[in-house]
Amino acid sequence: MADTLLNIQFQEACATDMCPFCALTLSRTRRYLSRLLYEYATAPDIHMRFARAFGLCEWHGRMLVEVTEEERSDGLAAAILYETVLNQLLTTLDEIAPPQPHRRAVGRHKPSTRLLHSQETCPLCDFETRADTDLIRTFVDELEASGLGNPLMQSYLRSARACRPHLSMLLSECRNRQTLKMPELVEGLVRDYRAALRALADTLSAFIAKHDYTRQSELPEAERESWIRAVELCGGGRHGPYRHSGTRHTPADNERRQQ
Ligand SMILES: [Zn+2]
Ligand SMILES: [Zn+2]
Repeated sequence: MADTLLNIQFQEACATDMCPFCALTLSRTRRYLSRLLYEYATAPDIHMRFARAFGLCEWHGRMLVEVTEEERSDGLAAAILYETVLNQLLTTLDEIAPPQPHRRAVGRHKPSTRLLHSQETCPLCDFETRADTDLIRTFVDELEASGLGNPLMQSYLRSARACRPHLSMLLSECRNRQTLKMPELVEGLVRDYRAALRALADTLSAFIAKHDYTRQSELPEAERESWIRAVELCGGGRHGPYRHSGTRHTPADNERRQQ
């Protein structure tokens, strides 16, 4: 039986209109970033990690700015971390083109622009990958222990369903285990997914068929937004909903509303 906190968090993720695995990983990554800024911004190992990666990737850099602004912080924690990153960049630039080139023998120095490639992946991308893998493993552990009837699965069956990348991870995890229960679980997951996909495809077709003679505003929201749901389901939504409309929300939105 999964711990109570996971059950609550997974239920919240299933209540969003997103893939519950994407929604949960997104909220965990945001929480990790928040802790990192306010508890570990001066930790030497975190500084080393940021320096080697030359900071965060574009997506997580945007998340850092967003989280800092939402928490009404003045950005001091981010400034402390990025001071180290900028110093690392300056050191690297000196290696590519020394500030006093005349001291070196002409022709002997071969600057490599590859030095600007980060030696490590973005620290938050790493966290996200680990969080995702742990979540999928725990979910499959639960299915293995108590089958399709367990509470996490029941919550999942009321959700918007996994995106294609997360379905792929789920099925791979099931297949890798090769236990007796797995073929039945894979069949159950795929049967449910096929039905959910069929329903979305029918909604999409209804939207297309009515498009010429019905005003957009008169269409049901599910049909109006079916194309966005299709894009999201195929590509995954770990970086948040593709568009915010009236009823779509994420765990992060819920957290913000409670503040
Ligand atoms: Zn997903
Ligand atoms: Zn990243």
